[in-house]
Amino acid sequence: MIKVESSQMAMELEDKYGAHNYHPLPVVLAKGQSVFMWDVEGKKYYDFLSAYSAVNQGHCHPKIVKALIEQAQTLELTSRAFYNNVLGSYEKFITEFFGYQRVLPMNTGAEGDETALKLTRKWAYKVKGIPENQAKIICCQNNFHGRTITVISMSTDPDARNDFGPFTPGFITIPYNDLPALEKALEDPHVAGFLVEPIQGEAGVFVPDEGYLKKAYDLCKAKNVLFIADEVQTGIARTGRLLACDWEGVKPDVLILGKALSGGVCPISAVLADDPVMMTIKPGEHGSTFGGNPIAAKVAMAALEVIRDEKLAENAQKMGILFRGQLEKIHSPLIELIRGKGLLNATVIKPFNGKTAWDVCLKMRDNGLLAKPTHDHIIRFAPPLVINEEQILDAVGIIRRSLEELA
Ligand code: PLP
Repeated sequence: MIKVESSQMAMELEDKYGAHNYHPLPVVLAKGQSVFMWDVEGKKYYDFLSAYSAVNQGHCHPKIVKALIEQAQTLELTSRAFYNNVLGSYEKFITEFFGYQRVLPMNTGAEGDETALKLTRKWAYKVKGIPENQAKIICCQNNFHGRTITVISMSTDPDARNDFGPFTPGFITIPYNDLPALEKALEDPHVAGFLVEPIQGEAGVFVPDEGYLKKAYDLCKAKNVLFIADEVQTGIARTGRLLACDWEGVKPDVLILGKALSGGVCPISAVLADDPVMMTIKPGEHGSTFGGNPIAAKVAMAALEVIRDEKLAENAQKMGILFRGQLEKIHSPLIELIRGKGLLNATVIKPFNGKTAWDVCLKMRDNGLLAKPTHDHIIRFAPPLVINEEQILDAVGIIRRSLEELA
């Protein structure tokens, strides 16, 4: 194995041998601990992305890493061809944790979404009685549910779709945060489900109007349509509640989780539902070699215990209020808008003197804070939820200084 001796060398290797399906900020990270990361040369940064909200518990959380190591040394993978002695206790733990009867374990967020779509279609035919191959699922403009063909079939982002067709049929796209549009789409008797992000994360942290989720849920119930929440990014304490749906007292019929379910140490996703939905799937109809493996089961339990024991939802709520309050005190021609909930926040950047969101991120990197633009003009600020008051104030100081240096 070639030894990477500098950031430059690491970037050259990725550039030469990797697919160019990402455009990373030029910084090469070599170490992480709690809210901090260090680059190859040893420079320290605040992490204000948290691997797109996968590292809610902070980098290399000792309890989660211990669970990973101990299980990896004991039994790593059996596949689901056999039982293992960890999966059942994980299934009991996670269903009780989120208040559902059953869980279906997968690996990535996109697989979680695919699973939810398959479950919804199965339920449509076996329970609701929609004629064969006629089931439709409502989704929202500007959604982000991952990168598989079926998932991008729901996308309205040209970058996600262009030259990847033909697409999977069976979706009705409506504007986000638009209840009349939902009500109208629900008139179609072949609609089986409504898939929604409680806050649209990748789109740029779009927080819907208060009451939207509850009303949308009620509209779905009135038409016997499943309310499917993609909480891959918003769930697991990120927005200041365990689930973003908790803000409106909504219990989704189908709940999709990923990312922070592992605290960032390995890919773990899960779909939760009650018997009438989950029991429609029979042996052999869905699965994954790695889904529900013993390491994932132990890691997910540890990751959720950390969320509960360290009261990270409460901290996200408190620190989020502090963070947005401090950001609002910054008067910069580059800031157009600040929005968010808990520690899922974004600023809309107005180009000034030819400087864009990318330039702001480069400047913040130079000053010791890492964040990434989404859609060119939006910067998401989503630090690990273990961040404390002193660190928030320090980080805001870096953001302020970076904006001042650019403007
Ligand atoms: N769903 C949402 C809401 C997401 O934000 C993401 C990733 O950002 C996904 C699904 C896809 O997750 P993964 O990249 O693990 O497939």
